[in-house]
Amino acid sequence: MQAAIAVYPGSFDPFTNGHLDIVSRSLPFFERIVVGVVWNPSKQPLFSAEERVKMIQEVCQPFGDRVVVESFTGLLVDFVETRGARIVLRGLRAVSDYEYEGQMALTNRHLRPAIETFFLMAREEVSYISSSVVRQVAMLGGDVSKLVPSIVVDRLHQRFS
Ligand code: ADP
Repeated sequence: MQAAIAVYPGSFDPFTNGHLDIVSRSLPFFERIVVGVVWNPSKQPLFSAEERVKMIQEVCQPFGDRVVVESFTGLLVDFVETRGARIVLRGLRAVSDYEYEGQMALTNRHLRPAIETFFLMAREEVSYISSSVVRQVAMLGGDVSKLVPSIVVDRLHQRFS
């Protein structure tokens, strides 16, 4: 049997308690999870890819070396393959996620039929959290301490102070 490596890709701008929940709930089922931070040169993120990778590494440190954080550019399926994985992890919050997530999963299957996308339903308590809402609230000086890990709270404060 192949080593079960799963790739959890996303923008993670910034990494939230919802993302953390997906990583911690998936980890018992895989030998390793590679968190893949999408680096899109044509987008202007709040945090650079390096900053996001560093932040997520700090947040995921308690998981040890079974969680690896890297940035990538280009096709997700290529990144997944080069990491020796065949599984993509994604989270589903509301019905509104379904359309986009379904489209991505089918496109990736079209490109690489051997790669499967596994979906985890968000935990109720974090299902309303999105990176874009966190960015807006933090920018306006609101309290995001229940929405993101404390390391991310600090970085948001630094960014908007
Ligand atoms: P992308 O730009 O690729 O959608 P995101 O960082 O927004 O990147 O999300 C990465 C993945 O995490 C997506 O599958 C998304 O549905 C999931 N996700 C985002 N927020 C949550 C949450 N609060 N609970 C569970 N899954 C989430």
